[in-house]
Amino acid sequence: MSLWDSYGLAGHELRSGSFSPDNRGRWYLNVVVKAQAKPTAATASVGIDLGLKEAAVASTGERIEGRFYRKLECQLGIAQRAKKKKRVKAIHAKIANQRKNLLHQFSTQLVKNNAAIFVGDVASAKLVKTKMAKSTLDAGWAMLKTMLEYKSHQAGVVFEVVGESYTTQTCSCCGAIPASSPKGRAGLGIREWTCSDCGAVHDRDVNAARNILAAGHRRLAVGISGV
Ligand SMILES: [Zn+2]
Repeated sequence: MSLWDSYGLAGHELRSGSFSPDNRGRWYLNVVVKAQAKPTAATASVGIDLGLKEAAVASTGERIEGRFYRKLECQLGIAQRAKKKKRVKAIHAKIANQRKNLLHQFSTQLVKNNAAIFVGDVASAKLVKTKMAKSTLDAGWAMLKTMLEYKSHQAGVVFEVVGESYTTQTCSCCGAIPASSPKGRAGLGIREWTCSDCGAVHDRDVNAARNILAAGHRRLAVGISGV
């Protein structure tokens, strides 16, 4: 068997490999390579809030916008109503590929710009509260976490998943949980809010991401002093 080496794999030691098909029946070769981690030149750190509407938001304000495939969704509806099974399958595959590309771009950029990356543990509070069909979202966020983890590892960047309790309700400026912050089911629709304690104006998700970043720093500090 020969490999079409578009990824420069010849420079790596190949470990193990497997084949897997996508849902259009195209096959992919997955290989594990041994790569040398170089220390990163970046010094910044970032927190990432994984939201409920397919939006991942960084404490720096970078974000993956929700429902990037709106156009395809329309085509999908047409194909579904016409019962064109093959076309439905093809559009699903296209959406999956676009999502994957988007997650790759986002994760590559974050790993390039930071020395430490902290991701909120989305599996906890939020999803349970909303009872939403979480399979798609879970798969997407699991993929993003995996990408961030292995890319961070390769680049010598710290990667940690941190608990995200109270990250939405807490003001990232003053640290209080003010009366005005979004809470529970009623708070789900609040995108922007003003802290009634210190007056800071917050984008809901950026504020949560900043709290995740702070939680990550606290954890690192504990880790370091605990050595
Ligand atoms: Zn405040």
